[in-house]
Amino acid sequence: MHDRLAEGLSAIIADPARVLTAPAVLERLSHDFYWYSPVLRPKLANKNGDIAVLALDVDEILAVLRFAGMNDVPVTVRGAGTGNYGQCVPLQGGIILDLSLMDKLEEITSDGVAVCQPGLRLGALETEARKQGWELRMYPSTLVKASVGGFLAGGSGGIGSVAHGGLRDFDTVRAFEVVTMEEEPRVVLHEGAAVHEILHAWGTNGVLTRIWFALAQAEQWTQFTAAFDTYEQAFTFTESIATNPTWTKRLATVFEWPIPSFFTPIKKLVRDGKSMALIMIATAQLDALTAATKGSGGELTFSGPYEGPRTQPLLSDYTWNHTTLWAMKADPAYTYLQCGFSPTECREQFRKLRGRFGNEIFFHIEFMKNGEGVVIPGAIPIVRFTTEERLNDMIAFCRSIGVFVANPHVNYLEDGGRFRPDNIQLLAKQRYDPRGLLNPGKMISFQKQVVAP
Ligand SMILES: Cc1cc2nc3c(=O)[nH]c(=O)nc-3n(C[C@H](O)[C@H](O)[C@H](O)COP(=O)(O)OP(=O)(O)OC[C@H]3O[C@@H](n4cnc5c(N)ncnc54)[C@H](O)[C@@H]3O)c2cc1C
Repeated sequence: MHDRLAEGLSAIIADPARVLTAPAVLERLSHDFYWYSPVLRPKLANKNGDIAVLALDVDEILAVLRFAGMNDVPVTVRGAGTGNYGQCVPLQGGIILDLSLMDKLEEITSDGVAVCQPGLRLGALETEARKQGWELRMYPSTLVKASVGGFLAGGSGGIGSVAHGGLRDFDTVRAFEVVTMEEEPRVVLHEGAAVHEILHAWGTNGVLTRIWFALAQAEQWTQFTAAFDTYEQAFTFTESIATNPTWTKRLATVFEWPIPSFFTPIKKLVRDGKSMALIMIATAQLDALTAATKGSGGELTFSGPYEGPRTQPLLSDYTWNHTTLWAMKADPAYTYLQCGFSPTECREQFRKLRGRFGNEIFFHIEFMKNGEGVVIPGAIPIVRFTTEERLNDMIAFCRSIGVFVANPHVNYLEDGGRFRPDNIQLLAKQRYDPRGLLNPGKMISFQKQVVAP
């Protein structure tokens, strides 16, 4: 099998150095940060692709998909491999299509739309955009490594979402070109509402090859941290900043103690026993924010300019799902959930969860705007893992009290929480990948089409 694939692909890819077969390399390219989940860890550890290809252009992608289709071989696309749920782990082997070399930024248009290849790193785009007076509307805390294509296919939002919502909102993703896995693969343009057929479908129904990604006008940002005696105080203060449109912010995060104690590189910013607010605020509003913090009983522990992805300390490295990484470094028994609390009932929801699960859950809030323009307390709580049953109990309890959960302990789209009820991703898969060769096993509602004899 391996030899046959290597021979076939080497005929397509001009430079054999871009067809990879070394087992250690394949092992690395077959995995992401799935190990965040103690449930996924044993299930995905031994899943590997049979061969990897570093594609350079659309013609090579078309040829690889044609070859794979003719030989009934699965293809799993890979950006930078920073996904959390084994999104790019090839469950059924086959070809890993690595797009990290397709990393060109074609242009930033005069109205602030980046036109780029999928392998472009978000950090590189943020740096270049800021030089031209623009910046990313939102980015994951994996900014430096993650690719634009991987973010669109696997991510949802991040720093900036408190102002601009998630990737699926407010026309941030303007358009993209997609290579299909039809009998004769082709390039199709999706624009406007049609992007939602492919967005966040984990590369199961097409390969993104050229992207139009809307930016925001660049702002001078200050990173800011404050300590509060109680979680309630830290939450209420941060909520007042996040939900009031007069504050210009990029990040509004709350950590319940002991989460700040996990942040060893920035321990000078942490106060023992206290909860922490972490905010990116327009520099022009820093004095007002400092005054508001004091007025709310908080202690300002740090403020400093954000000067792009190389800023030190880069406080976004402690937010979104990086928070979980610091918790797991402190104690490998920690894991996480991805939740959305009710903006009106959240205090009651926090109380019920604490009552039922005690110190098995610690609150980590990321305020974000939803598609209706309402800023809500999104959350990536830190959870002490004991058994899968107990974790499922917690998820069921959250849902029973109205807390939305996108389950990060499964590696198929449908329970990951972002699958669309209108089924347009599934319909696109039936159209573009009827043989089910793209990232098989990740869209479980898909059934291969049976060809009549
Ligand atoms: C510490 C940590 C923090 C994180 N924080 C966030 C966060 O704040 N917000 C967030 O949304 N995510 C977050 N993530 C998840 C992940 O980092 C992001 O979603 C990231 O944007 C994925 O980009 P990538 O290039 O690494 O994608 P990959 O992991 O390579 O791929 C992700 C998925 O997209 C598919 N794919 C990749 N490229 C293409 C393409 N061109 N066409 C079609 N399919 C493709 C892959 O097959 C896979 O299913 C975090 C992960 C970690 C480990």
